[in-house]
Amino acid sequence: MPASVCQSCAREDEPLHPVKRVYVQPEAWDAEPKITVVDEIEWWCVVCLDHYPHEPAPEALSSGGSPDPGGAPDEGDYTNKPGTPPPRTA
Ligand SMILES: [Zn+2]
Repeated sequence: MPASVCQSCAREDEPLHPVKRVYVQPEAWDAEPKITVVDEIEWWCVVCLDHYPHEPAPEALSSGGSPDPGGAPDEGDYTNKPGTPPPRTA
């Protein structure tokens, strides 16, 4: 269940969006610029979406609400029965 409070600024009563937080480490004299995407999904308000780096996260991952139309039924028929019917004598 999605949180009702922004996990970045703790603002309430705002529509929240699932995101993955992105840490951007600017280039320094002894370090190269680095971008780290956090694997955990957070819920942010639009203000935070506007101000902080992030990646959009698929909402289905956390809520499971939308059905996935790509799922094909597995038609593999593995019922390979070695049983032979008993011989019939008439
Ligand atoms: Zn926020």
